[in-house]
Amino acid sequence: MSQATQLADLTAALADGTVEVVDLTQPLSEQTPVLRLPEPFANTPHLSRRTLSRFDDAGPAWAWDVLELGEHTGTHIDAPVHWITGRDGEDVASIPPQRLVGPVKVIDRTAEVAADPGYVLTAADLDAFERDFGPIEPGTWLIFRTGWGARASNEEAFLNAGPSGPATPGPDVEAARWLSEHPGVVGWGVETVGIDAGAAGGFDPPFPVHNFLLGAGRYGLTQLANVDALPETGAVIVVAPLKLVGGTGSPSRVFAFVPR
Ligand code: MN
Repeated sequence: MSQATQLADLTAALADGTVEVVDLTQPLSEQTPVLRLPEPFANTPHLSRRTLSRFDDAGPAWAWDVLELGEHTGTHIDAPVHWITGRDGEDVASIPPQRLVGPVKVIDRTAEVAADPGYVLTAADLDAFERDFGPIEPGTWLIFRTGWGARASNEEAFLNAGPSGPATPGPDVEAARWLSEHPGVVGWGVETVGIDAGAAGGFDPPFPVHNFLLGAGRYGLTQLANVDALPETGAVIVVAPLKLVGGTGSPSRVFAFVPR
């Protein structure tokens, strides 16, 4: 089949609904939850906006605003330069677009996370996933389905911070190493506020997914929505960050093409 025919088949399938476009992006607003670091670290702001004009003397026929937000606010990508181990790597604008479109696979731990919000994913879990669903092919984005997206409209529930720190799911050290060394994994996507577990500040090394994955020139993707609409395998993801020069991360619109 010619490439032109394959694209015509895709557009026909999108038109007749046999391939659905799933929006994996959380709404971005003043209410969007943001990461909260302990003292003495600097924190990223929530989104805020200032009006330039609203059909008034400053702009009689037009409305527009100025945004303030963090690079890591809402559904966003982490570029390698975000972490000290990746500081000589790619910024957001340097990520090749071919790396932002590819197969997406989903490892589901929704039930386990419902029972234990601090659930930690292991390398053995990832090995078992590949046995069950086949080898992870080159260029794959792997998404950790936890059900956490259901908390995204409530910042306290979403951050889930207690006296001993945040209880949110994520990989352990060996799982982080597995992701960063697997030849097929280009990115790791999550429903939570960050690509590491809530307890990962106390791991050795701290924040191992950031440390290993970004250090290996790969990408993180956080605060995803509608992950329950993805199959474990067989969908295609499109990750669209701003082409932000020097950016360590960027709010991103994320879609998946899902066969029905
Ligand atoms: Mn980030």
